Amino acid sequence: MRNFSQIQQTNYDLIVIGGGINGAGIARDAATRGLKTILIEKGDFASGSSSWSTRLIHGGLRYLEYFEFPLVRESLKEREVLLRNAPHLVSPLLLTIPIYSDRSRPYWKIWAGMILYDIFSFDKTLPLHRMLPKAKFQQLFRYVDRNDLVGGAQYYDGQVTLAERLCLENIIAAQEAGATVLNYVEVTNLEITDKRIASLSCKNKLTEEIFTVTGNQDTVIINTSGPWVDEICKLGHSQNQDRPIGKTKKMGGTKGSHIIVKPFASAPKTTSLYVEAKSDGRPFFIVPWLGMYLIGTTDLPFKGDLDRVKADNDEIDYLLTETNNIIPTANLSREDILFTYSGVRPLPNSEGKKPGSITRKHILYDHKKEGVNNLISLIGGKLTTYRNVGEEMIDAVLKKMARPYKPCITDQTPLPGCILPNDPRIDQAIQDYQNIVPASTINYLFSVYGARAIEVLQLTKQHPELGEKITSDFSDIKAQIVYAVQAEFAQNFTDILRRRTTLAMQGNYGLDLFPVVSEILIKYCNWNSEKCDRSWQEYRTYIEENCLPDYLMKSDKSLV
Ligand SMILES: Cc1cc2nc3c(=O)[nH]c(=O)nc-3n(C[C@H](O)[C@H](O)[C@H](O)COP(=O)(O)OP(=O)(O)OC[C@H]3O[C@@H](n4cnc5c(N)ncnc54)[C@H](O)[C@@H]3O)c2cc1C
Repeated sequence: MRNFSQIQQTNYDLIVIGGGINGAGIARDAATRGLKTILIEKGDFASGSSSWSTRLIHGGLRYLEYFEFPLVRESLKEREVLLRNAPHLVSPLLLTIPIYSDRSRPYWKIWAGMILYDIFSFDKTLPLHRMLPKAKFQQLFRYVDRNDLVGGAQYYDGQVTLAERLCLENIIAAQEAGATVLNYVEVTNLEITDKRIASLSCKNKLTEEIFTVTGNQDTVIINTSGPWVDEICKLGHSQNQDRPIGKTKKMGGTKGSHIIVKPFASAPKTTSLYVEAKSDGRPFFIVPWLGMYLIGTTDLPFKGDLDRVKADNDEIDYLLTETNNIIPTANLSREDILFTYSGVRPLPNSEGKKPGSITRKHILYDHKKEGVNNLISLIGGKLTTYRNVGEEMIDAVLKKMARPYKPCITDQTPLPGCILPNDPRIDQAIQDYQNIVPASTINYLFSVYGARAIEVLQLTKQHPELGEKITSDFSDIKAQIVYAVQAEFAQNFTDILRRRTTLAMQGNYGLDLFPVVSEILIKYCNWNSEKCDRSWQEYRTYIEENCLPDYLMKSDKSLV
């Protein structure tokens, strides 16, 4: 599958650096429009900011305050496209905003925002907003703080429960359309000749091999490395060692952290809460997620190592305190936390601006103005808008190449797993496999893989053992481990536990799962115990560097 000598001999039309949601969406769009495309990702697909988001497919109600109307409209349009083309991954989410007289956003302002939001989504399939007067609000939400309460508002957005899989399905779709997609390959150098990037040096991080990727006379390189955009630019140099594109700082990412907690007393069951924090007026979310609660985020300027971003103790305590403020009976403490994660938003450099006020609009930055004619960097770009970014980017690329225009088809093309809950294939799978896998687990597999769940189930036909649960606490079955390696580019424990499944986030950071997962990898995926031990060590390091709160690393040795 990863044929590097063939890759070295191929001239690509489009070379995409970065396999997050935007790189994946661009590669898919390019391949479906006939461009010979390669995507290169230094870690796993979606291992950057795409796996650290709040998982909302939203118009960005908050952006109305900054008059970002075109962004809100674009996002709301894309929300509909995703609800249509990926209903197995994106579902409607009801949000409730409690409104207080002692906070900065009064009732009338929220109401005006709701009306505008409905106007900007005039063509939506989701219900309109409703305002809740104080008495009605208190009746519906008895547990929510009543001090200074004046009422509430409810509206719909979307939730992509498994954002990592949204990225992965775009990678799979790109590959199905003819693109070459590589994870664990790092771009280490961009060679500039005659004002063009002529080739890219790359390192296969699984073998340490070095190889080169080249293009032809009109090849375009796309830099979708998210928060790493400046780092990629710094790799560009010409023969006289000039570095024309790495001189000015384009990115100014802010850090956002989340905590995941077990269900707690009075937790909202059928709605998310969208709350203005008491201490600093920042809006944050409490979102039901996979039977747990995802709470976030913070928004802090970030200047550290982009590969090691972790929620600080202060951020964790802030999120706990603010949740307890809004739901006083919740009584959450550090002991209730199952997982934490943190990411850097790939925002444009905006020195001196308040993090919340930095634009969330994306920019296609053509480096022609810096003297390099075939490089475009994406600055910004939310999860929600990735498909439209892909369309805009490939429109711009075709223009730049002066090739005939070919229309984009991604708005009308379902993602590979697309299936509706009432599809007869689900009942058929239950009939075919319920002797091996319980019907409830089959339904769960469809909620994760969509129509591709059938391929996971097929593995259990030959090996019924693969239909067993990985652990009694969760629905995931052993076949998912094999499927991740054989059909979904998983290369290590972190890919399997954190991005192909959510096992890492469902208890003790996945640290109890080594015996069962390694047994399957050895038996069915040609791994040996040495590879398992090495990969497990890397997993523990990943968890310690990115997810395990510092206070646990110091006190609770059983987790480290
Ligand atoms: C805390 C937080 C909450 C968010 N919440 C939401 C939300 O609810 N809804 C929403 O729509 N958006 C949200 N976002 C924004 C969204 O997650 C990001 O804007 C989006 O995922 C960016 O995707 P990307 O593909 O551009 O970048 P990334 O996902 O960061 O991908 C860039 C990739 O480039 C790779 N790379 C870097 N250097 C190299 C190299 N040398 N060679 C090869 N590859 C390289 C990285 O490994 C990385 O995988 C949130 C972001 C954060 C941080």
